[in-house]
Amino acid sequence: MKTIGLIGGMSWESTAEYYRIINQAVKEKRGGHHSARLVLYSVDFEEIEDLQHRDGWEELTQLMIDAARRVQGAGADFLLICTNTMHVMAGEVEESLDIPLLHIADATAQEIKGQGLTRVGLLGTRFTMEQDFYRGRLEGAYGIEVLVPGEDDRRAIHAIIYDELCHGIAKAASRELFMRVMDDLVALGARGIVLGCTEIPLLIGQNDVGVPVFDTTRIHALAAVERAVKG
Ligand code: GLU
Repeated sequence: MKTIGLIGGMSWESTAEYYRIINQAVKEKRGGHHSARLVLYSVDFEEIEDLQHRDGWEELTQLMIDAARRVQGAGADFLLICTNTMHVMAGEVEESLDIPLLHIADATAQEIKGQGLTRVGLLGTRFTMEQDFYRGRLEGAYGIEVLVPGEDDRRAIHAIIYDELCHGIAKAASRELFMRVMDDLVALGARGIVLGCTEIPLLIGQNDVGVPVFDTTRIHALAAVERAVKG
């Protein structure tokens, strides 16, 4: 079994899910007392979140490269960045490593294509919904059309992620907002919804909308297990 490398702590609420999903899947596949071989480097999210909102992306890139090298140095065979947003600098991180990066958008795109879908709605932080690093990859590399909510809804979703979900808070009113936004995206033609922020599955899931939901935390974690057990 290969050693999975994780950069986590963004936020730790979702990294705990990665840890649980990965170990459960290894146990299901291997049985007995099997659990995952993994290396986790977990950052201080206060520092990350502050830099994100002050446009400190160059500093964040250096922080991610440093974290990735630590994970590689500790013996990981491949790397996961346990957040969608921090794939902004996935290219630079990948270039700084000798081990491969398992990109969250690639794993998600493969699931979407596997279900034969070509138009999805994307929920995530404003960075993920508005910048090209994520949507562009789904659209350019996989031919998946991506719809995002309008400006007011993007702002509301972003605030819920940082002010509630990253603190482990799941409010009924926020869940209702997400459900309404997902219905709006479906009305606009989305045939699936990408939960493109690793904390969103703490609030909503497949039962909250009538089209397939793509839980990026779970998809990414299970893709890591597939790769790990091959070796
Ligand atoms: N975990 C979130 C994501 O998947 C947001 C937190 C972050 O900024 O990394 O995008």
